[in-house]
Amino acid sequence: MRFAVLGNPIAHSLSPLIHQHFAQQCGIDLTYERLLVEGSLAETADKFFAAGGAGCNVTVPCKLEACAYASTLSDNAAAAGAVNTLKKEADGRISGFNTDGPGLMQDLKRLRFPLQGARVLLLGAGGAARGIVRPLLTEGISSLTIVNRTFDKAAVLATLCPEQIRACTYQELNAEIPSFDLVLNATAASLQGALPDVRDSVLQQAGAAYDLMYTPQGSTPFTLHCEDLGVRQCADGIGMLIAQAALSFKIWLGLDADVAQTVSYLRTYLAGRKQA
Ligand code: NDP
Repeated sequence: MRFAVLGNPIAHSLSPLIHQHFAQQCGIDLTYERLLVEGSLAETADKFFAAGGAGCNVTVPCKLEACAYASTLSDNAAAAGAVNTLKKEADGRISGFNTDGPGLMQDLKRLRFPLQGARVLLLGAGGAARGIVRPLLTEGISSLTIVNRTFDKAAVLATLCPEQIRACTYQELNAEIPSFDLVLNATAASLQGALPDVRDSVLQQAGAAYDLMYTPQGSTPFTLHCEDLGVRQCADGIGMLIAQAALSFKIWLGLDADVAQTVSYLRTYLAGRKQA
């Protein structure tokens, strides 16, 4: 069976490695390639499915376009307005799913991070944050505060559930110093080696901190900073990356991949690549 990941750029994508590892775990054969989207996503996806493609992942910057491309959407994809998984159904229709948010929820549970009844602070309101909000509410958190540099984007996300979600600016957050059980960093700050503009006293009170970005060694500027401040549970986003892939694998093939084992495998692979 033929699978692929579509995006631009795409050469860096670890998805082929992860899905080949899942296939090995499950004792099946599949092909999984990287396809560069140079024109529209629809053009590349049409060609892929016409040539026998069974399903594909979609990554930056094509997730919104994939949402419009799919004939039907899962509830998560519709709420996020973004699709990271496409599947060709038996009748030829293309279904769209968003496994990013559910993948993060699975990883938070694997790590035993607080969720049920938790007061959650979400930093960032970009593509990744959009996919997280609905799954967080479904897990029974008690409140969600969304902070973003561009406040309007946080305010739009808060309209998904105004009774439970509050949008605010970094200035408001830092002036109030509220307490949170879990802080999720869904900003791209770590990619730039920077920290989001949150006062130390806000982070110090948190029980757990998770950065969606991942590194071979498992720490990011954000998780290192939180550890220094005494936050007990800190993690990077490698488990989310693998869990969202495992959910796509399940949607396409109905098979369960071993996420925890793949986390160890990928960390070893990335550490070896860094040294080489
Ligand atoms: P987007 O470009 O869609 O959004 C970026 C977000 O980061 C925006 O909210 C932006 O604010 C904010 N931001 C950027 N720089 C800074 C800064 N210096 N300080 C504060 N806020 C900043 O990116 P994504 O949402 O797709 O990705 C965000 C992060 O999540 C990345 O680190 C990415 O690697 C990671 N990710 C991990 C996944 C995984 O599976 N582990 C999956 C998807 C993403 P503004 O709106 O004001 O510009």
